[in-house]
Amino acid sequence: MTTTGKLFILSAPSGAGKTTILKKVMKELPHLAFSVSHTTRSPRSGEENGVDYYFVSVDEFQTMQEQDLFLEWAEVHGNYYGTSRPSVLEQLKLGQDIILDIDIQGAAIIARDKSVQAVTVFVVPPSLAELENRLRGRGTDSNETIELRLKNAAKEMDAAGEYDYLVINDNLEDAVSTLQSVIIAERSRGHRLPTGEPIKLVTNK
Ligand code: ADP
Ligand code: 5GP
Repeated sequence: MTTTGKLFILSAPSGAGKTTILKKVMKELPHLAFSVSHTTRSPRSGEENGVDYYFVSVDEFQTMQEQDLFLEWAEVHGNYYGTSRPSVLEQLKLGQDIILDIDIQGAAIIARDKSVQAVTVFVVPPSLAELENRLRGRGTDSNETIELRLKNAAKEMDAAGEYDYLVINDNLEDAVSTLQSVIIAERSRGHRLPTGEPIKLVTNK
């Protein structure tokens, strides 16, 4: 039985509600770490460096690429995003479950990487019209950015079939509870409690 942590990947078209769901799940479930990605995108209002992302320049990002420090990286909606290899591998080795919020290109790269095994979850909105409402309602992106993200959404939804689990984010609480159930089920599969600790079987021997 493996003693390393489990790697979860969460993907969705922008605006589907992935960040909202994840924040709620992380409040409920202990021992689940969020992998903070590096990005060249500018921070949105309320986003914190080192918490939501590490916000870096294109030069800094390229230096990390040259040093092979990314487990995966991709250009998404016109900016670069990448996952730190040392950080993820170290946490997994320590038995820590970790969740990556990454796009379909990054998820495909990790799926081909034999050094890690991931459980993949795709979040979909109830409709593309609702996706547009949410992107506009969030009020964080320019019209041009929203148009680009909507244009990319259809292509991203085509990749949903490649994922292990699909979560529909219509009612938020239902979506949160479905993602939580997936994580708890995967922990059980690894002979661990819903909280993440190993199950110690008591026998009379
Ligand atoms: P993502 O991380 O997938 O880009 P966000 O989590 O930022 O998306 O959510 C986009 C917007 O949609 C936010 O304003 C959020 O409050 C809203 N939202 C998320 N889930 C729901 C839901 N189930 N119903 C209605 N609005 C939602
Ligand atoms: P946002 O700019 O809305 O935070 O994220 C845009 C997209 O980039 C989302 O699909 C998100 O999952 C993805 N993303 C965030 N971090 C990473 C990363 O490290 N690698 C990859 N490939 N995609 C990422």
